[in-house]
Amino acid sequence: MAYQYEAPVSQTLFDRASLVTPGGVNSPVRAFRAVGGTPRFMVSGTGPYLTDADGREYVDLVCSWGPMILGHSHPEVIAAVQEAVARGTSFGTPGEGEVALAEEVVARIEPVEQVRLVSSGTEATMSAIRLARGFTGRAKVVKFAGCYHGHVDALLAAAGSGVATFGLPDTPGVTGAQTGDTIVLPYNDLEAVRAAFAAQPGEIACVITEASPGNMGVVPPLDGFNAGLKEICAADGALYISDEVMTGFRTSKAGWFGIDGVRPDLMTFGKVMGGGFPAAAFGGRADVMAHLAPVGPVYQAGTLSGNPVATAAGLAQLRLLDDAAYAKVDAVSAELRSLVGAAFTEAGVAHTVSAASNMFSVFFTDEPVRNYEDAKKQEAFRFTAFFHSMLEQGVYLPPSAFESWFVSTAHDARALERIAAALPAAARAAAEATA
Ligand code: PLP
Repeated sequence: MAYQYEAPVSQTLFDRASLVTPGGVNSPVRAFRAVGGTPRFMVSGTGPYLTDADGREYVDLVCSWGPMILGHSHPEVIAAVQEAVARGTSFGTPGEGEVALAEEVVARIEPVEQVRLVSSGTEATMSAIRLARGFTGRAKVVKFAGCYHGHVDALLAAAGSGVATFGLPDTPGVTGAQTGDTIVLPYNDLEAVRAAFAAQPGEIACVITEASPGNMGVVPPLDGFNAGLKEICAADGALYISDEVMTGFRTSKAGWFGIDGVRPDLMTFGKVMGGGFPAAAFGGRADVMAHLAPVGPVYQAGTLSGNPVATAAGLAQLRLLDDAAYAKVDAVSAELRSLVGAAFTEAGVAHTVSAASNMFSVFFTDEPVRNYEDAKKQEAFRFTAFFHSMLEQGVYLPPSAFESWFVSTAHDARALERIAAALPAAARAAAEATA
């Protein structure tokens, strides 16, 4: 299918970008490789809408992959940024903004007694794992297939054959040594976790899991899964790390912890807490955090950590995220899920709308999806047709069948009507698609 003529200015920019940047993008999923066609170069965002370089407006269901939970250009966030930026952009010293943001995180998320600010989710998970290893004096890390924790070398591992094999590098450039201490297990399978601990007692530093995964599509933990992880870790002296980079401050005021109440030893955050700027964090038990430099021996640092503009944006956004805001995001998500489900049912497309609080995605299968293997069995080719029909009708979806959709408080009746109007034709396109 040829899509490249639909967005001539974006195509010109993409051609320019491809000369100077690998694949024309600074993060691979933006290149539309999974769906084909021309990535849209966006020039502005307001509320639930994005406008591309060709002057076309889209209802945005990506929300910058999660951060823009208040919609784009929220006036109070923009004002806080303008106020901060007018005072300077980076000092390389402590500042009050980072204290206030840390206090806000600690106040909202009860297991977080102390927090360290960083600039990306990748840095947060990388640092949390280093800290877990430093604290326990152990090397091994358990992660789950289909969970993404950023591009940390040790976590870019896929399972080898068999259930409890050691991780094999998922990408050239990561060595076997870097993933050799990573154990990759199937998600939602506590027996596999018990077996891994039984096979190497006292050797596993931590289990890291997405609090509720959104990077294989949305696949929530089965009842008792996170609690089981915590229990198995505690029994062996390993740390339970809950990665809330995606779910944190999104799925509830206290993220996924606010929903399942399972108390992690360490947690990681990003996305929403930066208000669209690079701010992220890891935190948790004070006795564990006390192992970090300069108090303890585990080194961790960052030139732009706690940046005053990023922390001002994050703080402004978090302060606007009260119970009413979450009720609004949840309601928008529920309405959209029901519209999407109805359109596929009407078009006769086998599907499952899989939700975790207000995060959701569509699997093109009616079989249960409990882990990455299940997710990969869906008819992803239907998504390509669906995606392009929605795009053409002015709705911007994540350009992959394996990503969560995100909504915001700014998705109002008009935005939902535009989506509702686009869905029937897109669902029919999905029905007619062939592999
Ligand atoms: N952890 C999770 C659960 C994520 O979804 C992501 C990014 O999507 C990351 C970590 C990495 O965050 P960043 O892209 O800010 O490095």
